[in-house]
Amino acid sequence: MTVSAALQDRLAALQPPGLMIIDGRKIAALSGETFANISPRDGKPINAVAAGDKADVDLAVAAARAAFEDGRWRDRTPAEKKKTLLRLAELMEAHREELALLEALDVGKPLSDARNVDIPLAIQTTRWYAEALDKIYGEVGPSGPGRLSYAVHEPLGVIGAIVPWNFPLHMAMWKAAPALAMGNSVVLKPAEQSPLTALRVAELALEAGLPPGVLNVVTGFGETAGQALARHMDVDMITFTGSGSVGRRLMVYAGESNLKRVSLELGGKSPQIVFADCPDLDAAAEAAAWGVFFNQGEVCTAASRLLVQEAIREPFLEKVLAVARGIQVGDPLDEATRFGAMVSSEQMRTTLGYIERARASGLEPVLGGRQVLQATGGFYVEPTIFDRLSPDAALAREEVFGPVLGVLSFQTSDEALRIANDTVYGLAAGVWTSNIDLAMSAARRLRAGLVWINGWDACDITMPFGGFKQSGFGRDRSLHALHKYADLKSITLSHRPPHV
Ligand code: NAD
Repeated sequence: MTVSAALQDRLAALQPPGLMIIDGRKIAALSGETFANISPRDGKPINAVAAGDKADVDLAVAAARAAFEDGRWRDRTPAEKKKTLLRLAELMEAHREELALLEALDVGKPLSDARNVDIPLAIQTTRWYAEALDKIYGEVGPSGPGRLSYAVHEPLGVIGAIVPWNFPLHMAMWKAAPALAMGNSVVLKPAEQSPLTALRVAELALEAGLPPGVLNVVTGFGETAGQALARHMDVDMITFTGSGSVGRRLMVYAGESNLKRVSLELGGKSPQIVFADCPDLDAAAEAAAWGVFFNQGEVCTAASRLLVQEAIREPFLEKVLAVARGIQVGDPLDEATRFGAMVSSEQMRTTLGYIERARASGLEPVLGGRQVLQATGGFYVEPTIFDRLSPDAALAREEVFGPVLGVLSFQTSDEALRIANDTVYGLAAGVWTSNIDLAMSAARRLRAGLVWINGWDACDITMPFGGFKQSGFGRDRSLHALHKYADLKSITLSHRPPHV
C-alpha cells in the first residue's frame, strides 16, 4: 500500500495517545498493563494503550464524583459551560486532520469519510449541545394560592458512557456532549478497537477549560473496564451504544448493583422497501447500495434488507449491482478510497462466516463474497449481495455488521410491511414510493425509531435517534438527549397566600 509523501510525513509525525485521562492527568493503568492497538489497514500495531481495569475505573469514578460534588463544572453558569464546550468544538476543528487520521488508522474507515463525516459530525454535536444548554427551561406548576411549585432539571451525577468502534468519536460525543451540557461528570470507555480519538479529545477538553475530573477516559476491554463501570455503585447512569448481547448484560449489571439508569442504542436489521412506483429508481439504487456498504457495512442503521416489489425486482437489482460494482475496496489512507477495511480480523471472520453459511445453505452471492487485499495484512471484505433471500434466512434476520446486502421481494404493501416488521429489531426503515398515502401509512406502520421516505439516513442532530423493540431504548441526538442526562426535581415554596 502506498500513500502520498505528504501523508507519510503526517503519519511519521503522528503521536497516537495511549495513556488514560483521569482527573485531568494522563496516566498508565495501575496494573501497568497495556494492549496492542492494531490497525485494520495492515494488521500492524499502532501503539500500546493502557489496559484499564476495575482499579482504574474506581479511580476515574472517584474523580468524576468529586468533580460533581464540589460543583466545579455543574455550578458554572450556562454561559460559562457553553463557552467551554464551544471552545472544545473549536479545538476539535483545529485538530480535524489529526483526529481524522487517528480515526482512519484505528478503525480502517476511509480517511475521506473520517475527515468529511465522522469528525465534522462529532464537532457539530459538541457545538449543538453547547448552543442548546442555555435554552432548557424548567416548569412552574399551577399550584394555587400560598404555594409556588416549580420543576428544575438536575444533572444525574456520574455518567458512564460505553461506546462502540464503528463511529468512535461521533458516538462518544453523542453521549458526552449532552451529558456534560447538563452539568454531569463523565467516565467514557471507548471500545478497545478504537481508543485514540476519545483520548485525544479528552486532552483537548482540558485545554478548552473543562475542569479536571469532569471528562475521564478509561481505555480497556469490555469484560474488565466496561463491566466494572457498569457495576459501579457510584455511577448514576450507563449510556451505551453497541451490541444487543452486551446491552442485555448492562441491564443485569445495573439490577445487580445500584439500579443505575441504562440507555441502550443497539443493533438493527433495517429494511428499505422499494415500491414499483418509486419516484427515482436511480436515487433508490444509490441508497440501497450505500445504505448498506457505507462504513464497510459497520453501521447500526445499515439497510441490510432490501425489499423490492416483484414487478421491478430484476431491473432494480441491476441498478443496485451497477452502483455496488463501482465500489472499490481500498487502502483507508488513500484519498480516493470510499470503502476501506473492517475494524478487526474478528469482525471480518464473523462477516465471512455469515457468507459461508449462506453458501452452505445453497445461496450464491450475486456480487462479492470474498476477503480481498490479503497481501496487505489488513481486514478487507468486498461488498456482497445475495438475491432471493427467504425472510427466514439468517441473513434476513441476524445483524451481520458487515458489507452484506440481502434482497427479498414482495407483491403487496401489506406483505412488504409484514416482512419489514418481522424482526426483533426496530432501528431504521425506508420506503420509496410516489404514493403519498402509502408512504404516510407505511411510515406509521413500520415499527422502527427512524423512518425515511424517498431517502436514506436523511436526518441530523436535530432529530431523536434510537430504536424500538430490541434495538434499544432512550434517544441520542436532539433536545431529548439532554433530558436523558437529567432528573426533574419539584420544589414547592409555601408562603402566605395573597389577600389575607
Ligand atoms: P459491543 O457491544 O461488543 O461493544 C461495545 C462496547 O461495549 C465496547 O466499548 C466494549 O468494550 C463494551 N463491552 C463489551 N463487553 C462488555 C461488558 N461485558 N460490560 C461492559 N461493556 C462491555 O459492540 P461492538 O462490537 O463494539 O459494536 C457493534 C454493535 O454495536 C453492533 O451490534 C451494532 O449494531 C451496534 N451499534 C449500535 C448503534 C446504535 O446507535 N444503535 C451504533 C453503533 C453500533
